[in-house]
Amino acid sequence: MNYRILFIVVFVALVTACERAPETGLADRAQQIAIDSIIIDTHIDVPYRLQNRPADVSEATDGGDFDYPRAVSGGLNTAFMSIYTPAALEAEGGSRELADKLIDLVEEIVEQSPDKFAIALTVADARQQFESGLLSLPMGMENGSPIEGDLANVKYFYDRGIRYITPAHSLSNHISDSSYDENRQWNGLSEFGVEVIREMNRLGMMIDVTHVSDDAFWQILEISTAPVIASHSSARHFTPDWERNMSDEMIIALAENGGVIQINFGSIFISEESREYANARMESGRAYLIEHPDLTESYLFRDYPKVYAEEHGPLPYASLDEVLDHYDHVRDLVGVDHIGIGSDYDGVGDSLPVGLKDVSQYPNLVRGLLERGYSEEDVRKILGKNLLRVWQAVEDQAAK
Ligand SMILES: [Zn+2]
Repeated sequence: MNYRILFIVVFVALVTACERAPETGLADRAQQIAIDSIIIDTHIDVPYRLQNRPADVSEATDGGDFDYPRAVSGGLNTAFMSIYTPAALEAEGGSRELADKLIDLVEEIVEQSPDKFAIALTVADARQQFESGLLSLPMGMENGSPIEGDLANVKYFYDRGIRYITPAHSLSNHISDSSYDENRQWNGLSEFGVEVIREMNRLGMMIDVTHVSDDAFWQILEISTAPVIASHSSARHFTPDWERNMSDEMIIALAENGGVIQINFGSIFISEESREYANARMESGRAYLIEHPDLTESYLFRDYPKVYAEEHGPLPYASLDEVLDHYDHVRDLVGVDHIGIGSDYDGVGDSLPVGLKDVSQYPNLVRGLLERGYSEEDVRKILGKNLLRVWQAVEDQAAK
């Protein structure tokens, strides 16, 4: 045996192992944390996706960002199902009817696979379902349009299982102005909207400040007696002048109120380059709608992106690093107790960053946070503890 060669071989093997060990070690640790922490994602658009393209999400599905096997491998435990109604329905009618249908759909998912899914109505439900290995599907209502001007409908939807409401979506409605809409008929909330916020406080529903105009946000903070959430918003710092994301002042106020901002993973929420592309697409889309009056507002969000991409190329994706920059930014502003996850999976089409393409990829987020020096406890707060704290506070103040 040539000892010099043996020495070199062993030396090279050791150096390679040492270089690799922290890498695989960190990936394993991230996977482990993802599996044994409660991961809560406050915005996943499964119901609307299934309404348009039925599929069995208890098994692996061909498209889409969510299904049971991928959720399990990503460590997801509490997936807020978005009960989303298109803004145009407010004028056309049928919002409440559609919301009911989408809630039925979530109930069917659970009824068909009670060994896999359960609907969480309370923090205690979410914890208990996590302990028993069930994937919790609480529900949040995106767009308050189904309230249809009747305060009794807030209680109606609470009784059907809705645990947060986003007052408006892409158009200003009878409750609130929208950040996407130039029409600011209420300069924030309508008088009825103020009553809706109070009723939500009374019942123990979380108020979601996502999508609403800045004026509406400030009014909600003044009125709400409980902490509020932004169920799927990111930091405006990175997308200047875009009202849909939250400004630093708003994030600070949200934190002072005890609330939490759940970072949206969609590339256009994360990077200015993607945002500018989306701005140009939106302008072009609005012109397209004028030429095609038979199409509705939701066509802009759901289908027009494909039409636009054919001519202008695909949307430039944000990177996982850029998503992590949003976490750092909020943490540096207000601390780690006020950040969470609101991916917008199944809601932002093909615009997700590389490394965060679907519900199997939360461990990549965990790993990125660890690499940036977040402690394990910090990571667990981001994954779910922060949201549980807010949800609990909302329940507690309603119980008083
Ligand atoms: Zn949304």
